[in-house]
Amino acid sequence: MIPVRDDLRALEGYHSPQLEVKVRLNTNESPLPPPAAWRDAFAAEMSRVEWHRYPDRHATELREAIAALHGVAPEMVFAANGSNEVLQTILLTYGGPGRTVATFEPTYQMHAQIARVVGSQVVEGERDADFTLSSGELRRVLETAAPHVVFITSPNNPTGLVEPADRVRELLSVAPGLVVVDEAYAQFADWSALDLVDESRPLVVTRTFSKTWSMAAVRLGYVIGPTWFVRALDTVVLPYHLDAAKQIAGRLALRFADEMNDRVRLIVAERERISAAMRTMAIDVTPSGANFVLFRPTGMAGRDVWQALVDRSVLVRDCSGWPRLAECLRVTVGTPEENDVFLAALDEIVSGSVVQ
Ligand code: PMP
Repeated sequence: MIPVRDDLRALEGYHSPQLEVKVRLNTNESPLPPPAAWRDAFAAEMSRVEWHRYPDRHATELREAIAALHGVAPEMVFAANGSNEVLQTILLTYGGPGRTVATFEPTYQMHAQIARVVGSQVVEGERDADFTLSSGELRRVLETAAPHVVFITSPNNPTGLVEPADRVRELLSVAPGLVVVDEAYAQFADWSALDLVDESRPLVVTRTFSKTWSMAAVRLGYVIGPTWFVRALDTVVLPYHLDAAKQIAGRLALRFADEMNDRVRLIVAERERISAAMRTMAIDVTPSGANFVLFRPTGMAGRDVWQALVDRSVLVRDCSGWPRLAECLRVTVGTPEENDVFLAALDEIVSGSVVQ
């Protein structure tokens, strides 16, 4: 065995265990597929691809379509293989050895993970017990660590909380480096930091096709930022990193924005229904602006509730052993039918009405 780089030895990697179950509500995907018309358009364009040629290295048409969606210049758009690769490219460019990256925990684990993999030092700020971020902690971390890159996830994963606009503005006013707002779930929430992006601010906003666009299988994400930032990423990323199929899939998806908004409306309504139902049980529910809900059963171990749900063929994310998330579970909003199965199973478990 050849030893890995010294600073990688302690890393554990990112795990999202999968089990064979009837109702899978553990990875925040869309419960509904993209429209049939998208499939047809995609198949038709795929049949015309010149497969012996490299794809458009700059993904010109895809960038133009994303830029048009957000009303920005195409030079402010960078796309990659899932927003995870976008995050990695940002950190390869602005993080790395000798550089510091700040997160506010608990939050999306890949921010700290990728930052460490590329050799940066990670400083973890602490959210309050209710998972909100105080102004004092924000300023303490920025003043003491002076991070080159700072991450905010809004809505946050796994808590679902939306970061208030004032807190993001405050962060921008004191951050000495790049501010990355990860908006993987932004369409489910009531505000976005996108309006704050312009040439003069070191602010960038990441998005994904994996959730609202129902295209997790495609692996496509992007970031909107100042042109100087996008140019820097373009010099770092591998040539031809976005294959032809992905460029077509993403560009065509944007023609179906109305259908996407319809799905988002359904999921938001279902999220509110699930949250309200759980609040009538012996369960603490964190208010969510995303397509998932973090909850903590009271009087029962989170792990036991997770196992009892698996026994009823419902899989949710077990966060109960994660730092700062003791006894918490996270459920992705599914179809109304899936949510009914989940709620009935949970009610049965927490009310103890069934003898096991
Ligand atoms: N950011 C956040 C906050 C996420 O929850 C996820 C997916 N779990 C991602 C980014 C990555 O998404 P993808 O790589 O599928 O675009």
